[in-house]
Amino acid sequence: MRKKIVVANWKMNLTYAEAMSLADVIADSEGSNEYCSVIIAAPFIYIHDLINRTRSQADFFIAAQNCYSEDKGAFTGEISASMLASIGVEHVIIGHSERRTIFNENNALLAKKINKAIEHGLIPIYCCGEDLVQRKSGRHFATVENQLSEGLFHIDRTIISECIIAYEPVWAIGTGVNALASEIQEMHSFIRQKIKDKFDEDSAEKIPILYGGSVSIKNAKEIFNCRDVDGGLVGGASLKSDDFLSIIKSLQPVF
Ligand code: PEP
Repeated sequence: MRKKIVVANWKMNLTYAEAMSLADVIADSEGSNEYCSVIIAAPFIYIHDLINRTRSQADFFIAAQNCYSEDKGAFTGEISASMLASIGVEHVIIGHSERRTIFNENNALLAKKINKAIEHGLIPIYCCGEDLVQRKSGRHFATVENQLSEGLFHIDRTIISECIIAYEPVWAIGTGVNALASEIQEMHSFIRQKIKDKFDEDSAEKIPILYGGSVSIKNAKEIFNCRDVDGGLVGGASLKSDDFLSIIKSLQPVF
C-alpha cells in the first residue's frame, strides 16, 4: 500500500513566532503516524529552525516551497537545492501554479529545477494542473500531460517513484471550490496511466499522487477516499492547526 502524505503549503504567511508555534502544535499532536507522513513547506528563512524543533517527530518533514535551477553564483535572492540539502531539507515543491503564473516559470525551467533537486538528493513535489479555461475547453488532460512530459518525465526510470506528484487544478487553489471527487479520481488515474506508459507499472503503482485545491475539513475525507489519491497538498487550511490536524486524521483508515 502506498504511504499517505499530507503537505502543508504555508506560502508567504506567518511571522517567525507564529510559524514556530504552529509547527510545534502540529508536531506535538498526533500529526503524523505510521500511516501518514506530514510535510510542512515553510518560507525559506524559517526552515532551519523548524527542522531543529521538529527533528524528533517521526515521518515529519520541513520542506521548501521552491528552489533555483543552478547550484550557486550571481542569482541574487535565489536559494539552491544544494543549500537546502546542506541544512537537512529533504523535500521541495517545484512548479506550484503560483510560481508558474506569477513568476512565469515554464516547464523547461522546472525540468532544470527537478534535475537540481534530484542531484542533491531532494524529493521533488512536482505540481501540475489546468486552469479554468483549459478545463472548460476540455484541454485539462492535455495540459497536465504536457506539464508532466516537459517538466518531469525526463528523469530516470529508477527514481520516478521516489518523486511526489501534486495534481492541483488552478481554479481550485485558494478559491474554496474544490474539484469533484470524480474529477480528481479521473485525473489521478490518468496521471498514473501516463507514468505506466512512460516508465513501468511498478513505478505507477508506487508514486504518491496528492490532490491540492481548497482541501478542507469538509471535503478531505471524500477526496482522500478516492482510489488514486494518496493525500493532499493543503494551502489555506494548513494555517489553522485544528483544521490541518483534522485533515491529517481524515487520511487514517478506520479499523
Ligand atoms: C496550494 O497552496 O497549493 C493550495 C492548494 O492552496 P489551498 O488549499 O488554499 O487551495
